[in-house]
Amino acid sequence: MPVTTTTTQSLLAIDGGTPVRKTLLPYGRQSIGEDDIQAVTDVLRSDWLTTGPKVAEFEEAFAAWVGARYAVSFSSGTAALHGAAFAVGLKPGDEALTTPMTFAATANCVLYQGATPVFADVSPDTLNLDPQQVAARITARTRALLPVDYAGHPADLDAIMELAERHGLIVIEDASHALGAEYKHRRTGSIAHMTVFSFHPVKHLATGEGGMVTTDRTDCAEALRRFRNHGISSDARQRQADGQWHYEMVLLGFNYRLTDIACALGLSQLKKLEPNLSRRREIAARYSTAFSDLAGVTLPAVRTDANPAWHLYPIRLNLEKLSADRRQVFRALRAENIGVNVHYIPVHRHPYYRERFGYRGGEYPIAEDAYERLISLPMFHAMSDQDVEDVITAVKKIMVAFAV
Ligand SMILES: *Cc1c(COP(=O)(O)O)cnc(C)c1O
Repeated sequence: MPVTTTTTQSLLAIDGGTPVRKTLLPYGRQSIGEDDIQAVTDVLRSDWLTTGPKVAEFEEAFAAWVGARYAVSFSSGTAALHGAAFAVGLKPGDEALTTPMTFAATANCVLYQGATPVFADVSPDTLNLDPQQVAARITARTRALLPVDYAGHPADLDAIMELAERHGLIVIEDASHALGAEYKHRRTGSIAHMTVFSFHPVKHLATGEGGMVTTDRTDCAEALRRFRNHGISSDARQRQADGQWHYEMVLLGFNYRLTDIACALGLSQLKKLEPNLSRRREIAARYSTAFSDLAGVTLPAVRTDANPAWHLYPIRLNLEKLSADRRQVFRALRAENIGVNVHYIPVHRHPYYRERFGYRGGEYPIAEDAYERLISLPMFHAMSDQDVEDVITAVKKIMVAFAV
């Protein structure tokens, strides 16, 4: 080994060396411009803070952008998932199949309806639901399939829609990671029976809290609108708007409405979605080039029929080629001020799911093995070129230090 490379600079920050950056770079964050602030303050000065004109305006613009007939806004992505599970008619005794490689909310929405989430393992390349594993777990009780577009890479949608068709199931795609992703040149939101999006600040479009369901089905759109508004029929609301007091609650719903304040922000953010997506794709390409010759990491796979939206850039550690485990690599990156994260602890490994359903580990070996290796690198559209280079420098520094 050449002695010249052993300088204080290559000493890991975790071992007392100088960190690659002075300040912590988060793994994700929103970007808010003056135009966004103006859009919000305009609403604050208007007559409508909620249930006003910005809601329909945002929904129509969003539906048009993804290429769906309807878009129904919700107060969060989780509320939107709950709405979709309701619109399917999930009830006690029903099962819905989903992936363990997701945020707990995807499976929780099935529980909200009193139905049972059943997991199927993922494909080793994309970590999206493996259609063969799904097919093996469909029973007479199965009512819905809930694929997730992990990290922004679209799920295997043709295969999943075909399974749904064959067994008479509804597909709720959780596209919280995948606003703007394309599957066979079609945008997510225009493919599944219902598609759910989240507007949490780390996602592609931020409204603070917020979510959306897109669908082409009139019956689903109607059910979603009632469900988010106490179960009040929208016809009655229209009558109310026309100056009448009469309205009817026809089912048990919730107040899951998104405010005009949030919708104005969403509309303003939607205008910048295309350049923001391009920036995420640029960052992903830069990472992929920079890390292509690192033996210690496996880069996120991209299938030929997919154009991912890159919510996350999850690398997997080739632990066989490293003298450290994920925990040590994670801590070393944090010490360099690179705000890495882990997505996800498989849902069935959470104490609530373990205790309620008796999972012991080992049920979903592909997802569980991936979890031991995953690290999400910083990925958000406002990252500067220097931020990107800092991540690359830190990853390379650590991979060199831990190479065997
Ligand atoms: C963010 C997210 C959600 C939940 O969205 P919220 O808006 O935070 O409620 C659901 N599923 C996945 C996969 C997510 O990443």
